[in-house]
Amino acid sequence: MKILVINAGSSSLKYQLIDVDNGAVIAKGLCERIGIENSKLTYKPTGKEPFELVRNMKDHTDAIKLVLDALVDPVHGVIADMKEIDAVGHRVVHGGEKFNKSVVLTDDVIKAIEELSELAPLHNPANLMGIRACMAIMPTTPMVAVFDTAFHQTMPEKAFLYGLPYEAYTELKVRRYGFHGTSHAYVTGRALTFLDKPVDETKIITCHLGNGSSVSAVKGGKCIDTSMGFTPLEGLPMGTRCGDMDPAIVAYLMNKLGLDRAGVDNYMNKKSGMLGISGVSSDFRDLGEASKQGNKRAELALATFAYKVKKYIGSYAAALNGVDAIVFTAGVGENDRGMRAMIMENMEYLGVDFDFDYNMSAPRGEEIVISKPTSRVKVLVIPTDEEMMIAKDTANLVR
Ligand code: AMP
Repeated sequence: MKILVINAGSSSLKYQLIDVDNGAVIAKGLCERIGIENSKLTYKPTGKEPFELVRNMKDHTDAIKLVLDALVDPVHGVIADMKEIDAVGHRVVHGGEKFNKSVVLTDDVIKAIEELSELAPLHNPANLMGIRACMAIMPTTPMVAVFDTAFHQTMPEKAFLYGLPYEAYTELKVRRYGFHGTSHAYVTGRALTFLDKPVDETKIITCHLGNGSSVSAVKGGKCIDTSMGFTPLEGLPMGTRCGDMDPAIVAYLMNKLGLDRAGVDNYMNKKSGMLGISGVSSDFRDLGEASKQGNKRAELALATFAYKVKKYIGSYAAALNGVDAIVFTAGVGENDRGMRAMIMENMEYLGVDFDFDYNMSAPRGEEIVISKPTSRVKVLVIPTDEEMMIAKDTANLVR
């Protein structure tokens, strides 16, 4: 079964064509600068020459048309006809409380995603543009929505409530939703295969550490807490997002810096985090380099990040009453060996016997165990694969 996975942003669209029966990625790529001059399609068919095409795409419908043209192209194509695509799986950022799992897209579902745009004004409308464009061009192909928030919907009320008047939740929908759910769900599923225990008894902490980062506590395969909140701004300091802080700082900064609502939003989302602390970069590779050259603020940014991840692991071990596995995933979690070592220092109290030597030479791009065989807690690196998760969910729903 061939599934086209679409991740639409406001001016970009990532795609992968996946054969879910054998797990093969048949082709993948990206449309950039949609609706802007010089839009570009990048197309990488497996086993054939990749190419780039600079061509105006006035909207997402133009972008999808170009993607489909590339997929069926007589020379570069990977399928003979568009009809070979059995279904399309769309990433949707916010499913609110309405969606606790993936669903087949209907008019009602689209309406609900539209209504949820209030909670994700930057993301849901862009996701909808991708959905509508595909529906216009492939009207008979089944479509599925896979939500970033769905995996976290199992959190109990005590975990998702803030200490605000209860009406903020019931009337204004202010609560913790959590994001990166598809990634946390995927690595949880993989981590379970490393544990010699019935699923119901497992306790896993998943650390999705990338440009955006979040940590989740997963009991019996179900999420019971996660570090991102009402928006993806909460939790760890990230590339450019501040993460947790005293909410009183917002009003203080607005007053002191003369910022309006948009200004303070921008300050916390785009100027903070690793970039803000270091003054060097939001990118962990740049920070590692700068730190090696003796840049103290880059070093401080990395140390701050490691410390906060460690604190989340500790608090989630408390929430779970123990832990069987700690999982690292995403750009930093999968690749930054030094960061993993910093986070795992002094974790013996939890029953972690971390293999610091192996960690520093461990291969990248593979599922690996980086704790010692005697360690009570397994520490794993599991490369995330959100597209595969979306493709599998889509296939299961349309089968
Ligand atoms: P993601 O958002 O998951 O794509 O992760 C992006 C982050 O991963 C960036 O900050 C990168 O610097 C970081 N990253 C990717 N590869 C490496 C690497 N080899 N070493 C350190 N950080 C890396």
